[in-house]
Amino acid sequence: MNIILFGPPGAGKGTQAEYIVNHFGLAHLSTGNMFRSAIQNKTSLGIKVKSILDAGELVSDDVVVDLVQEETTKDMYLAGCVFDGFPRTVAQAESFDHMLANKNTAVDALISLVVPEEELINRILSRGQGRSDDTVVGVKNRLTVYENETKPVLDYYEKQGLVNFIDGTGSVESVFERIKNVI
Ligand code: ADP
Repeated sequence: MNIILFGPPGAGKGTQAEYIVNHFGLAHLSTGNMFRSAIQNKTSLGIKVKSILDAGELVSDDVVVDLVQEETTKDMYLAGCVFDGFPRTVAQAESFDHMLANKNTAVDALISLVVPEEELINRILSRGQGRSDDTVVGVKNRLTVYENETKPVLDYYEKQGLVNFIDGTGSVESVFERIKNVI
């Protein structure tokens, strides 16, 4: 089972991804986590993407797609995976569908977490994870990028009948209950 966990920054994708993988025994692939770990380890990828993440811009599609392509060759992804933060553009979604088709698999569902913008900003600025992109300017830019480049991914998967909107407000447990019902 392959699930795309979708939503704006601060919607709770990372938190809910952990709950889903623990409950359903799936792997977890977060492109944001992969980039942050590359930056921390000062790999050539990390050096290349650091300023992009700090500015809240998107890493280029070919870099992201190559990274996911390589990562998903690992056996741990065979039983299925929660994709968190990917795909984030329509071009990434198209490449992703091809990638999965080549492995004789597909996206089973997209879960889109819905949270009002005001709450997103409050959540991010108060979560205190020390992320260098969690500044007022960084957050606002990530929200703009989400609206312009990422939201169209919903229309792309809507055409395949795969989109499920979930109310992302309330306690972490109550959001997870809603997700479980959909899965
Ligand atoms: P958030 O959803 O809170 O913004 P993520 O951890 O998903 O956090 O992503 C952090 C940053 O990593 C993004 O702002 C972007 O710079 C980069 N990134 C992550 N995933 C992608 C992707 N699929 N395509 C392009 N850039 C990405």
